Amino acid sequence: MSDLSGRLTEVDARIAAAARAAGRDPGTLTRIVVTKFHPASLVDELYELGVREVGENRQQELTEKAHAVGPRDGLRWHFIGQAQTNKARAIRAAASVVHSVDRPRLADALDAAGEGMPRLDVLLQINLTDDPGRGGVTPGDLEQLAEHTAARDTLRVRGVMAVAPLDEPPAAAFERLAQYSALVRAVVPDADWISAGMTGDFAEAIAAGATHLRIGSAITGPRPERR
Ligand SMILES: *Cc1c(COP(=O)(O)O)cnc(C)c1O
Repeated sequence: MSDLSGRLTEVDARIAAAARAAGRDPGTLTRIVVTKFHPASLVDELYELGVREVGENRQQELTEKAHAVGPRDGLRWHFIGQAQTNKARAIRAAASVVHSVDRPRLADALDAAGEGMPRLDVLLQINLTDDPGRGGVTPGDLEQLAEHTAARDTLRVRGVMAVAPLDEPPAAAFERLAQYSALVRAVVPDADWISAGMTGDFAEAIAAGATHLRIGSAITGPRPERR
């Protein structure tokens, strides 16, 4: 077994154990492998190992890598980074899911870029900190963003996304995220995806109801230097 395959198997076992500990069916969880800063060849290797959901946090890297890997049956690219409105078209061209819709103008830009395309799955990114620089809509603006985004014809609101704050136990933050998820479901009843949990906190995220885990280094190994 290669190191990559070994790490993937080990993380999947830890995901399954965390799910069972929380009384949840591991089969209902989607594990996204975050491949940022790694070469496209890593995505090829992951694909050979059966991985079909991969995540990138920068548009240019997403575009280049998706092009280098080329079309693969069932492969889905998740865009998980902060997005500029002028990159909406490029993001939409490469990604199957955008996790980081955090303002009405971004929803508008993604929608405008999607004329004639199948509806794009989007998540509303919520800022769980008091620092506006961290990305994500403030909880107070969430309901309005949900209504605005749900009204865009080419977008489908699937749920919420967040990154745990650095200065707080993740379990407490993910409990708040679960409440915000309920708030979005009051607007879009079937928007039940919760994208949360990274290498350091995916067990806590699973305990709090996460459905989509974004796991990088535990599977890929340490990231190369940012290009
Ligand atoms: C890099 C990244 C991850 C994965 O981080 P790891 O700690 O390597 O698992 C998850 N979510 C986002 C938004 C990221 O940028």
